[in-house]
Amino acid sequence: MYNLPENRIIKLLDWNPGSTVVNKILESISPDNPADLDEIAYLLGAGKSDTKNYSAIIRQAGELKKSVFGNTVKIFIPLYLSNVCVNRCLYCGFNADNVSMPRKTLTDEEFRIEMETVLGLGYRVIELVTSESPAVKKNHRLADFVGIAADVMSQKVAADEDSQLILMSWLLSDDEFAMVRKAGLENFYLWQETYSRQIFMKLHPEGTPKSAFDERIEVFDKAVGSGIKNVGIGILYGLAPWEFDLLALIDHGKYLQNECGANIDALGLPRFKHAKGAMIEKAPYPVTDDDLRLAVALYRLAFPKSHVFLNTREKLPLLLKLLNGGGSEMNIACSVYPGGYTNPQRDGQFDVYNYPTEKTLKWLKENGFQPAYIRLGEK
Ligand code: SF4
Repeated sequence: MYNLPENRIIKLLDWNPGSTVVNKILESISPDNPADLDEIAYLLGAGKSDTKNYSAIIRQAGELKKSVFGNTVKIFIPLYLSNVCVNRCLYCGFNADNVSMPRKTLTDEEFRIEMETVLGLGYRVIELVTSESPAVKKNHRLADFVGIAADVMSQKVAADEDSQLILMSWLLSDDEFAMVRKAGLENFYLWQETYSRQIFMKLHPEGTPKSAFDERIEVFDKAVGSGIKNVGIGILYGLAPWEFDLLALIDHGKYLQNECGANIDALGLPRFKHAKGAMIEKAPYPVTDDDLRLAVALYRLAFPKSHVFLNTREKLPLLLKLLNGGGSEMNIACSVYPGGYTNPQRDGQFDVYNYPTEKTLKWLKENGFQPAYIRLGEK
C-alpha cells in the first residue's frame, strides 16, 4: 500500500537549484527516462522563481508530448449517470444538502439513448461519471451501465476505430471492481481532490463515505488487483497548496506504475470552479493560469507516455497553451448533468464551458492539432 511521504515532500518544496542544474535535468528527460520526484521538485522551484526556467520547462514538455503523441489530441466526453449523492463535499453542487438541485439517475433506456447520442456526435472515449448514489450502489447498477455501454459501443464503433470506456465513481469494493471488470471495464479514474489530509478532512465532512482519505488513496491498488490496470489519477486544483499536491500526485503515480504494475493512463488537473449550491464559492488556494501551465508541463516530464487530461473548465485560449505545453487529451462537448446530451440542462455539478464539437475540432486543426479517438464528420 502507498505511504504518502508528507515530510519528504514538504522538504522538497524548499529546493531551488540554479539554471545549470535545471538545464541538465531537462536535457536528461526523454520518453524512456522520465523525471523522478526530486527532479520534478527542482523544476517546480526553478520554474516558479525564474521566468527563463519556466519557459524552458514548458517548451521541453511540449516537445516531449510531440515526440510521444505527435500532433494528436485525444478527445473524450464525460457522461453522467446519476447526480444523487450521499456525500457533502463542500465544493460540489451535487452535495446531499443542496435541496434545490434536481436529482436524476438514468434508467437503462435513458442511458442507452445518451450513449447513442454521444457516439453519434463522433465521440469514442466515453468517461462514465457518477455521484455516490445509495440506490445505484445497492442495486449494482454500475455493472449494468458498464455492460450497456460496452454493448452500444460494440454496435456503433467500427472495429478499426480507437475507443475507450472509462469509469469515474466512488471507492469501489473488491466485489464491485470484479463486477464492472466482468461487464467490460478496463479503465478506472478517480481524483484524490487533495493529498493534504488536514484540508481533505475539512472539505469532506466526517461520517460521509468520501471522508475516507486513506481508502481513497488505496483504491487503485484494488483496481489493479481486480485486473483493471489502466488508471487515471488527479487533483482538484484550488483546494489546497497545489505544489504539495502536485508532488504527492507524482509520487503516488510513480508508486502505482513502478510497484503496482498500473498503467497511468491519464493525469487530471481540474481547477476549482464555482458550483451553484456548494458550501464554498471560491477556491481556498487559487491557482493561476501560469501555475496550471507549469503543472501540466511537470506532469508531462514525470509521465511522458501518459495522457495529461485537460477539461472545459478552462477557456479555449488557455487550453491551446496547455496543449502546446504538454497536454494531450481534452473534452469539447460537456454536460455535467445525467442525460444532458439528449436533453440539455442548465443544472450541473459545477460551471463548465460546453464547446460545439464540429467548430472546436476545426479550431484544433487550424491550430496544428489532429483530433484523435473521434470519428470526424459524424452528426
Ligand atoms: S464531489 Fe462527488 S461525491 Fe462529492 S458531493 Fe459531488 S458528486 Fe458527491
